[in-house]
Amino acid sequence: MPFFWLPDKYYILLVLPAALLALWAQMRVKSTFARYSRERTYSGLTGAETARRILDANGLYDVRVEHISGQLTDHYDPTQKVVRLSDDVYGRATIAAVGVAAHETGHALQHADSYVPMQIRSAIIPITNIGSQLSIPMILIGYIFGFQPLVAIGILLFSLMTVFQLVTLPVEFNASRRALTILEGTGMLSGQENAGARKVLTAAALTYVAALIVSLANLLRLILLFGNRRDD
Ligand SMILES: [Zn+2]
Repeated sequence: MPFFWLPDKYYILLVLPAALLALWAQMRVKSTFARYSRERTYSGLTGAETARRILDANGLYDVRVEHISGQLTDHYDPTQKVVRLSDDVYGRATIAAVGVAAHETGHALQHADSYVPMQIRSAIIPITNIGSQLSIPMILIGYIFGFQPLVAIGILLFSLMTVFQLVTLPVEFNASRRALTILEGTGMLSGQENAGARKVLTAAALTYVAALIVSLANLLRLILLFGNRRDD
């Protein structure tokens, strides 16, 4: 039987290149964020002020803006209705801070107008979590006992994680598009500053594309290793 935790040819041909791509995307988002964290905005608005302004302008007075420690830990929490902004974003008046703050606020706007891909994403999170716990054990047990339906269910559960990564893409791209439109339209960033914010958000979006590719590579490897059992 194949030992899925040891590097096989599918690992080397599929998973490893995908993992390297993801690593590169992570490094790129960090360096782009760092670069535009050094450029202060003309308006002098901090990340927190940017988020508050956008929320108020859209009538979302009940969404709070909070500080969260760490780097690139920024997110929108739909259960608490909180935009959480990290150390380099919350109180900083830089192009990177304003761009990221507007992006996270974009998720709050998606939530407020029931943006469908976001709803799908939230709905599949529970089954995705179950899938990530059970898929590999099911595939291995099914394979060892030669019970192919169990292998198939395991691979199907694993594929839910890929679906999750896929649904994440429109949610992330749309949040960035909303952010850049608002920043430019309201004059919170000038045209040139907006180009910088776009670079930061595009670099961030690439990490989600890379995560999807990693997930696809892992799925394909599982299908190639276990999907077609031969009794020889
Ligand atoms: Zn996002």
